[in-house]
Amino acid sequence: MVVGEVASPVDLLVIGGGPGGYVAALHAARLGRQVTLVEREALGGTCLNVGCIPSKALIEVADAVAAPGRVAGWGGGAPPAGTARFSRPNRIAVEHDDDLEHLEFRHAIVATGSRPIELPGLPLDGRRVVGSAELLFATELPDDLVLVGGGYVGVELACAFAKLGSRVTIVELEDRVLPGFGKRIGRAVERGLRHLGVGLCLAHRAVGVTDDGISITGPDGDLVLPADRIAVVAGRRPNSDTVEVTSAGATVDERGLVVVDAQRRAPDRVFAIGDLTDGPALAHKATAEAEVAAETACGQPAGFDPTSVPMIVFGDPQVLSVGLDRDEAAAAGLVATTGRFPFAASGRARTLGATEGFVEVVADEAGTVIGVHAVGAHVAELAGEAALAVETAATVEDLAGTIHAHPTMGESIMEAALGLAGRSPHRA
Ligand code: FAD
Repeated sequence: MVVGEVASPVDLLVIGGGPGGYVAALHAARLGRQVTLVEREALGGTCLNVGCIPSKALIEVADAVAAPGRVAGWGGGAPPAGTARFSRPNRIAVEHDDDLEHLEFRHAIVATGSRPIELPGLPLDGRRVVGSAELLFATELPDDLVLVGGGYVGVELACAFAKLGSRVTIVELEDRVLPGFGKRIGRAVERGLRHLGVGLCLAHRAVGVTDDGISITGPDGDLVLPADRIAVVAGRRPNSDTVEVTSAGATVDERGLVVVDAQRRAPDRVFAIGDLTDGPALAHKATAEAEVAAETACGQPAGFDPTSVPMIVFGDPQVLSVGLDRDEAAAAGLVATTGRFPFAASGRARTLGATEGFVEVVADEAGTVIGVHAVGAHVAELAGEAALAVETAATVEDLAGTIHAHPTMGESIMEAALGLAGRSPHRA
């Protein structure tokens, strides 16, 4: 710390301009606060620049079997404004070029996101061994692409690159892809991946890079997979250390997550949101937390409820998951029932030629909807209704009795609820 440094006073400071940070800044400004936002790279964060948006653009391009280079200019852009780190509980130092500026804040909302984790034996070199960002913006299509990690980012990229013409293999430590989702969903996605020609090395660990491939080890021993590009997409680490959030009095757990209360307060005047806090690392979760933190900082009552954060996988098939599945309900001590409607019985799915998959509605003993899960074509579009049902504690009768337009994929939520109520017209 510089002795005798002079700090400029600021009212509400936001660190990070991703979907957590910029929403917090806008919301607090609307509520009357003077907001200062510090961002070290481009506004929009991971989501706009190297995450949600370019990955979905690539998936669209892959679906149209066009060239991957087309997405290169699709990100946002803004001049960098500085890199912030806490120097005292109420003060940050901002580095920009050779300048060091000190700001003393009344409140701070920290939204510095996360970065890809690196694995032993697979150091990222930005060329052959890369993270998701470099893979998304690569100008050459790999012949043999190995994705280390079978979570949602690995699955989405595998589908896109397989459609573009790469030979793709996923190496996953667990015995199935999408370990964070239900088993039936994981198996359905595995069928889709195999259908696209994606190789699956499940229950295998990537251990090192060779001249022309990647070494992996599994139940049957060691092998080398050919790879001219290896993308490590095995998880992300919160950027709580780089911003030195503990200097502000915050507690960080062993995963690097900042410990916060329901208002997203770390210590009293500092809030942490987005990929910095526990729960799924998703843009809409960051945005929801941003509103809570901004409102709390402005003296309004607010609290974050993680119950109904929808999770989507834009693979082929797509996946939707909101709330609890039957296993999670049982683990939470609830007696749950499920109604499942297969797309083979859906008129709309038949017109789309996409009859694989299902929608499942999960209800508790009182008939309250506690989860909606789906795998199949276009199921991402069902997320709004599914999240609304769980968020508003709708009942099975509410879903079953709501007139859904025909023929739509959304009807399948109603059909699953009708099945749960014992009166499905389209299933015996
Ligand atoms: P970020 O968006 O990471 O923003 C943090 C910002 O803080 C960055 O701009 C960074 O430059 C800045 N920063 C960091 N440290 C400092 C510092 N010390 N000083 C100043 N600035 C700093 N989520 C979805 O919901 N849907 C999707 O489809 C989806 N797809 C994804 C695909 C990929 C390939 C990846 C990698 C992620 C995807 N995500 C998706 C996740 C999503 O991008 C993140 O959950 C989301 O961006 C987190 O928002 P955030 O505001 O917490 O952090």
